Amino acid sequence: MSNSNSTKKASYGVIVALAAVIITLLIILISMESRGPKKADPVNTGTVIVNSPADSGREEPTEAIVTPFITETPTELPTEVPTEIPTEEPTPVPTEVPVTPTPSPKPRKIDGKTSANPNYEGKVLVALTFDDGPEEGTTEEMLNVLKKHNAKATFFVLGIQINKGDKYRALLKRASDEGHQIGNHSYSHKFPSQLTDEQLHDEVVRTSALIKEITGQTVTVFRVPGGNKSDRVKRVTGLPLVQWCIDPLDWMFFEGGYIRNYAKEHGISYSEAESAIIDTVLFEGVHTTLEGEPYYCPPVAYEMKHGSILLFHDIYMGSVHAVDRLLTFLEENYGNYVFLPFDEFILTENDEGPRQGVVYYNLWSTT
Ligand SMILES: [Zn+2]
Repeated sequence: MSNSNSTKKASYGVIVALAAVIITLLIILISMESRGPKKADPVNTGTVIVNSPADSGREEPTEAIVTPFITETPTELPTEVPTEIPTEEPTPVPTEVPVTPTPSPKPRKIDGKTSANPNYEGKVLVALTFDDGPEEGTTEEMLNVLKKHNAKATFFVLGIQINKGDKYRALLKRASDEGHQIGNHSYSHKFPSQLTDEQLHDEVVRTSALIKEITGQTVTVFRVPGGNKSDRVKRVTGLPLVQWCIDPLDWMFFEGGYIRNYAKEHGISYSEAESAIIDTVLFEGVHTTLEGEPYYCPPVAYEMKHGSILLFHDIYMGSVHAVDRLLTFLEENYGNYVFLPFDEFILTENDEGPRQGVVYYNLWSTT
């Protein structure tokens, strides 16, 4: 038994030695494989060589399909898809083309006449008048422009505008508080020819009452809607009528629609168009209406003679900008203009102020 036992022991020894060799070889093989090119791409789900969990080194490496944790295929689409895709649109760039400043027109010699009133020696007195307001937005801006230039004016207002609401009443009050005169331009802007004497009288009385109530001013002057003055209007209204000698037709040329069309036709911006139109009216003069009817208004800036009455409307932004441009030009080039409320304007020439039954076109010329 001992021999057989020793033989058995020797056989076991050989087997153990063989097993050790096989195991060593296997280990070498495995380690070579793991360094090989079959490594999983961390990005892709791939086939990788792994050892079986019960790796004892004795089994052939098995190929197993695994999903490396790094590359877990999401079973659901990421819920964190941003709901708002950040747009990389650039911040809007202002579309307005910078306007090349118009070279300031050269001043011309204007008349040369100045006031005979010793209080205004060397001064050119002018009456600025504004019709059809008060209007939200534009009247406020006009008041700002007048304040900036220290100019006083006369606002011929409509009762119907005042009655539009508190904002309108406040604008009227502000105009009065800032030293401007408030004149009457009727209640509803109906032309006298459409009204009976009684109706015309009523239009005037109602508006004067509103003006008195809001501003405390007693109305002393009337501007006829449409400028349709007549002896009948003089009689029925009982007020001096104020016409004008300079009418730039601002209701036509400085109105938004006209400026927009002009901009479109010339391929320029709205503000460039407005500026070009204003410069034409102020420094070149108007020769026809939009309809092509002959109409001549000399360059307003060079017509600013002592005693002039100007007609504007404080219901267009174009008019606001035109008045600003005009007053700036006069200040920079002449420096002796004084803009007075109508009553004060007339009082520089007489002691009574505007007289009933008279139509004023300028400081002296009356009919
Ligand atoms: Zn009017």
